[in-house]
Amino acid sequence: MQGCPLCSSPGGDVVWKDSRCRVVRVTDAEGVAFPGYCRVIWQAHVAEMTDLDPGSSRHLMNLVFAVETALRSLVAPDKINLAALGNQVPHLHWHVIPRWHDDSHFPAAIWASPQKSAAATRKAPTSEALSTAIGAALSEAEGGA
Ligand SMILES: [Zn+2]
Repeated sequence: MQGCPLCSSPGGDVVWKDSRCRVVRVTDAEGVAFPGYCRVIWQAHVAEMTDLDPGSSRHLMNLVFAVETALRSLVAPDKINLAALGNQVPHLHWHVIPRWHDDSHFPAAIWASPQKSAAATRKAPTSEALSTAIGAALSEAEGGA
């Protein structure tokens, strides 16, 4: 769709993809503050989860949960935040955000005002590690498909 940033660009560094979805790691300041922060993006321009057929929405959620599983094993966050807003970019995407009690915004959402100064820097997982862990978790969720 013309003018849509997620139709005209990947939206981050692509770490995993198939014909229906892609996973990008967020590379701007938010990606530094929340190392491992990923977005799961539906490839086609669709606004709502219920615009997808049931098999497609199941696949998308399997992938969101696979990213959550990958991040829990790679960066051991205190909490995972899952969010699908789409108010600014109405192209279906999920945020998968690792959170720590000492991060700059905890316990508020990352889009709220910071609660405190930046947390200790944490090492972000490599794209290769993310890709491998996401693929393994998705394969397990979808029966090796
Ligand atoms: Zn789009």
